[in-house]
Amino acid sequence: MRCPFCDAHDTRVVDSRLGNGGDSVRRRRECNACGERYTTHETAELNLPRVLKHDSRREPFDENKLRNGILRALEKRPVNIDQVEDIIHRIKHRLFTQGEREVDTKLIGAWVMQELKDLDAVAYVRFASVYHSFEDIEAFKKEIEGLEKER
Ligand SMILES: [Zn+2]
Repeated sequence: MRCPFCDAHDTRVVDSRLGNGGDSVRRRRECNACGERYTTHETAELNLPRVLKHDSRREPFDENKLRNGILRALEKRPVNIDQVEDIIHRIKHRLFTQGEREVDTKLIGAWVMQELKDLDAVAYVRFASVYHSFEDIEAFKKEIEGLEKER
């Protein structure tokens, strides 16, 4: 890393410690050319992509919105909250790791549907009917038939 005082490339780390509860590393560096010391902070870049909505508006990913959508589909279903949190965790992981700056809300909906399919058929159908906004009753029937075939 280049020295901010003299631009020399020859610097070394003299001290390194965790900061911010372990979320960042604070490094004390010394320039071998001019002898000045300075501090750098290193953090992992985990920016959630923005969500592209149906009406082509973009908004920040909202974990609570996702949770509420899933909970609504699971209302009165025999599923515990840990399973919901696991789903949210996996979806956030996919958002982080795919590295795109924008994610279509439809894609997130499809991920949720995959998760609910494995978890609870009733919740899956409820969620599908909202997110998919089936064009007609035939499309909806096909989805249900497909589900029954898989069982
Ligand atoms: Zn220097």
